Amino acid sequence: MLLGIARLTTAPGRTDNSDAKFHSLANVAADAIITIDEHGTIQSFNLCAERMFGRSAESMIGQKLHPIIPERYRRLHDDGVSRVSRSGETPFDGETREFHALRKDGSEFPIELTVASWFGEDRRLSFIGIIRDITERKRLEAELRQLATTDPLTGILNRRRFTELTTQEIHRAHRLRHPLTLIMLDIDWFKRINDAFGHTVGDRVIQSLASACASELREIDILGRLGGEEFAVVLPELGASGSLEVAERLRQKVEGLQITLNDGRIVRFTCSLGVAVLKDTDQSPDTLLVRADNALYRAKRDGRNCVRAASDS
Ligand code: GH3
Ligand code: MG
Ligand code: MG
Repeated sequence: MLLGIARLTTAPGRTDNSDAKFHSLANVAADAIITIDEHGTIQSFNLCAERMFGRSAESMIGQKLHPIIPERYRRLHDDGVSRVSRSGETPFDGETREFHALRKDGSEFPIELTVASWFGEDRRLSFIGIIRDITERKRLEAELRQLATTDPLTGILNRRRFTELTTQEIHRAHRLRHPLTLIMLDIDWFKRINDAFGHTVGDRVIQSLASACASELREIDILGRLGGEEFAVVLPELGASGSLEVAERLRQKVEGLQITLNDGRIVRFTCSLGVAVLKDTDQSPDTLLVRADNALYRAKRDGRNCVRAASDS
């Protein structure tokens, strides 16, 4: 399927000197370059396009673009082409936009498409599409986003992202005059767990607590690891009594967890929780966190493995 650079990849009757120049350039380009006429019929399909879509120029020239467009976008494409050929105005000439494209094997991949148009000597409108496969860039972006927002040990939100989302949720609650509560949670005697079983087992304790909490919460709740063995949960739409119930449920769930080590030993642990209700004066998560932390401190002082509400909640 590899084609020589000199190979004719243009519709018959359209080769002249400028076409030859165009094809030499197009065939060394690192992007897919496809030209279509005003009816959406492919006029040329360069080497990179052959590789990118897994289709030969021969099989594509003279056809519509449909084989390389995912089915759900074909109608949109057809409408666009007929609108453009009627009006002569291209909707995003020179702009770059992101779309999805289709390989011969049926797999989809993200692309960046730049379109330019021109009137040929025959006064007919033609389009050139320059297409870049952005699979790798999208993968890296997703990976970076993941790294920037989640905690690698537990997969739940890191402190930074938790604070960001909580700030948004606080503003929303104030705007709508809806309740919101925050629970702070800290594992009891965690140093002893590390000392008795080692840091790796300590890590497993942290992981199992995080996934147990995540499974108890609603989709709209925000769970984050604030650091070490300290977690926080924001419960939108819940007032004091509702969130005390949730905190008690979390406490019981954690109390029931157990980790079985390779040698058969079983590790069990508990946590303490502090609950604080959003006040009109809370403009950021800080003041709410301080009140929840004070309540958590009381829970520790009162013997641990219990829930305490901030005194003004
Ligand atoms: P308390 O009941 O008062 O909370 O007692 P504690 O032992 O849990 O006290 P503290 O909260 O001060 O201890 C936290 C310990 O957690 C200290 C640190 O060595 C350990 N730690 C912090 N981050 C990690 C981690 O990622 N993995 C493990 N295994 N240990 C961690
Ligand atoms: Mg602790
Ligand atoms: Mg702690």
